[in-house]
Amino acid sequence: MKTLILIIAATATTINPKNMQQKTVIQTIPGFLFLVLAVWACSGQSLESTRQWYKGNLHTHSLWSDGDDYPEVVTRWYKQQGYHFLAISDHNTLHDGEKWITVDSTGYEQYLHYWQLFGEQWVEVHPVTDTLSGGDAELWRVRLKTLAEYRPIFEEPGKFLLIQAEELTDRFERKPLHINATNIQHHIPPQHGNSVIEVLQNNVDAIRAQRESTGEPILPHINHPNFGYAISPEELAQIEGDNFFEVYNGHPLVHNAGDETHASTDELWDYILTRRLLNGGSIMYGLAVDDAHHYSGFNSRAANPGRGWIMVHAAELSAENLIAALEVGDFYASTGVSLDSIHHSEKTYGFSIKPEPEVIYTTQFIVTLRDRPEEHGVVRFSATGQHPVYTIRGDELYVRAKVISSKPKADPGTPGEKECAWVQPVLVNNPAAQ
Ligand SMILES: [Zn+2]
Ligand SMILES: [Zn+2]
Repeated sequence: MKTLILIIAATATTINPKNMQQKTVIQTIPGFLFLVLAVWACSGQSLESTRQWYKGNLHTHSLWSDGDDYPEVVTRWYKQQGYHFLAISDHNTLHDGEKWITVDSTGYEQYLHYWQLFGEQWVEVHPVTDTLSGGDAELWRVRLKTLAEYRPIFEEPGKFLLIQAEELTDRFERKPLHINATNIQHHIPPQHGNSVIEVLQNNVDAIRAQRESTGEPILPHINHPNFGYAISPEELAQIEGDNFFEVYNGHPLVHNAGDETHASTDELWDYILTRRLLNGGSIMYGLAVDDAHHYSGFNSRAANPGRGWIMVHAAELSAENLIAALEVGDFYASTGVSLDSIHHSEKTYGFSIKPEPEVIYTTQFIVTLRDRPEEHGVVRFSATGQHPVYTIRGDELYVRAKVISSKPKADPGTPGEKECAWVQPVLVNNPAAQ
């Protein structure tokens, strides 16, 4: 623990730098000056006290691409459900520039709802004649609001934040290859390539290049690797410059659980972690996201909002602070289970589960042993109860945890899902290497 002693000539200003905890003391001196002697302790504990859990979703869609509702309606839904941040990541577009949509019979309900919620002062609509029907039907053209336009009616400091995002939507042959860019500053078109790895790498590289050129933290993450079983574990393990993927995606077509011939996203995660960490690479972190497209008609065939999210332990509700926390693994992914007090040291790795009545929680501590890397992703210890703790033995490459509750998930992407949480992996120091 470092200790700083600050002696500050007095003013009326209150000094309260972040990440520091004031321990003592105010002394007064006769006259118009007084001295403040403050002892600030900089420590992990004091940093902890300034952090909060923020709930958010980094992957969702609106009418700017193939979502079925207006970005204001989408944002309103998330804010009303208690989310703190949202990144609407439409396919190959930002919410920028002029875009009009035609309201036909499939979009009429959403249009009416939008108009009822936001009113004629806000909604920009032009009637047009439907020439295809012989000119006897009237349609509406609606201009989609840009992020710059709708952001001010939702954002509140410390309470709700919108983050600009794009789902770079590419493919190789028939395989869909999608990568999100969170906090993107300018549109990036899909970069293409001559193999799955090349397409993914070119898109990650373009996102990284924008991060470097703008100086803004922009986070790439690989979407739904099992959608169309487009990305094999071997391919995903070879991508450089991307440390995030979706261990859970709420879209009903993405095969989180794999099948007889394809690994689940959990198995895939352990394969990637093992391969990367054995080669001196960095940790791959796992996100849970909605990938919502359908904001009415809640059922397991639809891609509804509210299925998967992340809880980020950040110092402030800003894109910079959230991404900084994500990049050190200070978050967990959830489809319903809430956690607190996540901690790890050289000896232990544990956390607390916020219990719900009559729900049983089983925590799997998952490791790969250094001397048996071919058996990646072994459940070495299972615990039930509210305070699971794993004792690190030192022969692990990494440890991560998955909490599986007995509570069925409401409106699951796949029927039969139970609520879960994924705690991020930590690299275990190898005593033999020190
Ligand atoms: Zn996608
Ligand atoms: Zn998507």
